Amino acid sequence: MNKLTVKDIDLQGKRVVMRVDFNVPIQNGKVADDTRIVKALPTIKYVIEHGASLTILSHLGRPKGQVKPEFSLKPAADHLSELLGKEVKTASDCIGEKVVSQANALKPGEILVCENTRYHKEEDLKCKTDEDREQQDKFTRELAKLGNVYVNDAFGTAHRAHASTALICKYVRPAVAGFLMEKEIEYLGETVARPKHPFIAIIGGAKVSGKLEVLTSLINKVDSILIGGGMAYTFMKALGHKIGNSLVEAELIDTAKEILKKAEEKGVKFMLPVDNLAADKFDNDAEVKTVEYDIPDGWMGLDIGPKTVAEYTDEIAKAETIVWNGPMGCFEMPNFAEATMSICKAVAESDATSIIGGGDSVSAVNKSGLADKMSHVSTGGGASLEYLEGKTLPGVASLDDK
Ligand code: AMP
Repeated sequence: MNKLTVKDIDLQGKRVVMRVDFNVPIQNGKVADDTRIVKALPTIKYVIEHGASLTILSHLGRPKGQVKPEFSLKPAADHLSELLGKEVKTASDCIGEKVVSQANALKPGEILVCENTRYHKEEDLKCKTDEDREQQDKFTRELAKLGNVYVNDAFGTAHRAHASTALICKYVRPAVAGFLMEKEIEYLGETVARPKHPFIAIIGGAKVSGKLEVLTSLINKVDSILIGGGMAYTFMKALGHKIGNSLVEAELIDTAKEILKKAEEKGVKFMLPVDNLAADKFDNDAEVKTVEYDIPDGWMGLDIGPKTVAEYTDEIAKAETIVWNGPMGCFEMPNFAEATMSICKAVAESDATSIIGGGDSVSAVNKSGLADKMSHVSTGGGASLEYLEGKTLPGVASLDDK
C-alpha cells in the first residue's frame, strides 16, 4: 500500500481531525445499526492512545445544506461514547469559532464529534462557477482549522471529492489513511491488481448498466465471470434465449454481445445461468417453477436455479481470488434468496481471498451470518464498485504517498 497510514506518523501531542463514516441509520433518536461506528473504532482508539486529541467529522444522510435535527450526529456521538466507555464531547457545528475553540481545548486522548458536515451545502457542492469553488474552498479552510493532522477512515465516501473527504488535504498535512481505509485499499486495490489465479468475479444485481464498467474492467483481469441476478437476462436475450417478462435492458443487448465477444477473445470463461426460478409475478408468493434457459412468456426469472448454483459452486471451489458484487436473485424475498445464500456459503467455504465488493451483496452476506468467513467485506457501496472499476478515488488519491 503506497499511502501513509496513522502508523507511519508521530501522533504525540497532535490535533487530529478525522473523517469517518458515521452515516448510520437512526431510529427514535438512537443508532439502529452501529456497524460503521464499530468499524471506525480501531483507528479512533489508536489515535487517542498515541497521545493525540481527536476531532471527528462525518456526514449523516442527505440534509442538503440545511440543519435538520433528524440528521444530527449527536446519537452517533453518544453511541461512540458508550462503545468506548469514555466521554465524547459534541459540537453544534463543524465550522466556526466555537467548534475551533472546542477542538483546540481538547487534551490528548479527548474526543470531539462535530455536527453533520452536510448541514453546509459547501461540503458536497457541485461547483459550476469560480464563485462556487471559492465558497467551497472557504468552507474547506474552516474545516482545516480543526487539526494539524488529517486522517481519513471513511472509505464509503472516498469516491467523492467533498470538502471533508478530499479537499481538506490541501490544507492539513500530513494526510493519512486510517485502518479501515487501509484495509479497503489493500483488498480492493492491491489484491485485485495482483490477484492469485484462478481469479473469479461473481457479478449480479439488477441491471447490466450498473455493472458495465466493473465488468469491462474485470474482464481484463479475471479467469471467469459468473453472472446472476436480473442482469443475466440481458445477456440471455443477447444469446437469443427467451426471457419472458424478466428484467431486461433492450438498449444494452449489443453491449452485452460485445462483452461476451471480449470474454471469448480474452479466454475468460463467461458463465450464465443454465436454469432459473421463474415466477408468474414479482412477488414472494408468486407461483414458481424451475426452467432451463428459456423463460416462457408471462414468467420472469427472479433467481438463478439449482443447476446453475451447482456449476457456480464448482467454479468457486477452484478459485484463489474471488470478487463478488451483486446478488444472484431478488434475495430480499425469501423465496428468491436461496441461490444468493448458497453462493455465500460456497464463497465462505472456499480458501480463496474473498472480497465482497459493497452494496447488496454485503447485505446478503451479513444476512447469511457468514461475513466473518470472507477475507474482506467492503464498507463502501459506490466507492468499492468504483475502485473495482479501476477508477482513482479522490479520498484515496489526496492522502500522502509513502
Ligand atoms: P444492484 O444494486 O445492481 O446490485 O442490484 C441489487 C438488486 O437487484 C436487489 O434489490 C435485487 O432484488 C435485484 N435483483 C436481483 N436479481 C433480480 C432479478 N432476477 N430480477 C429483478 N431484480 C433482481
